[in-house]
Amino acid sequence: MKILVPVKRVVDYNVKVRVKADGTGVDIANVKMSMNPFDEIAVEEAVRLKEAGVATEVVAVSCGVAACQETIRAAMAIGADRGILVESDADLQPLAVAKLLKALCDKEQPTVVICGKQAIDDDSNQTGQMLAALMGWPQATFASKVQLGEGVATVMREIDGGLETVEIKLPAVVTTDLRLNEPRYATLPNIMKAKKKPLDTVKPADLGVDVAPRLATLKVAEPPKRSAGVRVADVAQLVDKLKNEAKVI
Ligand code: AMP
Repeated sequence: MKILVPVKRVVDYNVKVRVKADGTGVDIANVKMSMNPFDEIAVEEAVRLKEAGVATEVVAVSCGVAACQETIRAAMAIGADRGILVESDADLQPLAVAKLLKALCDKEQPTVVICGKQAIDDDSNQTGQMLAALMGWPQATFASKVQLGEGVATVMREIDGGLETVEIKLPAVVTTDLRLNEPRYATLPNIMKAKKKPLDTVKPADLGVDVAPRLATLKVAEPPKRSAGVRVADVAQLVDKLKNEAKVI
């Protein structure tokens, strides 16, 4: 069983992003980039399935600039067997990525694609769902537990107010939520080994995909600054302020 794991290169979650002065986007020049945290969880899950003897091969895929190779190498250091870089300098939006992944799924024939539930840069939460739709495959999003059986996957999903367990036919798309697992740290020997693992590079045109953006960003702005809080003397004053100033009770 082959598992395909799409891994996105995003601004590291510890970085406080700054909006560009002209409001066209966020400044990513000289900013630390890392693998999208939900994708690390996806790689970890795929590698655990391989270690458990359920999967036979884990393929990491990243779509974007040449530096996405680093993200693929990071996935390989966790345990992915090989990688595919779909190299493009274009602004790749979720639909374009889903189409690229579809072309790779047609070629690679994975049994499961494990995506992150969302990329922390655009917070779109769309790519996995779009891929499932394009493939005509079932999907189980926001997974907190994944079990693969004969032709089916049993997935526990995080939903508002609780958990839901669904059974879906394979092949399918699963997207990871935070509680699915805790990704391991890549050890130095595994980082060294990852350098030797096979990594193919293709271009969107090789896959016959038009990646032209379909959405235009009109403006990016900082969230409004929060004003400082006030300390109240007692409960009576708090209630008074909530009633008469904030008018929320
Ligand atoms: P999004 O729909 O942008 O929130 O992304 C959801 C998931 O799709 C991510 O967690 C990745 O698994 C995958 N994905 C999105 N964009 C890319 C990309 N450029 N390269 C590889 N995987 C991606």
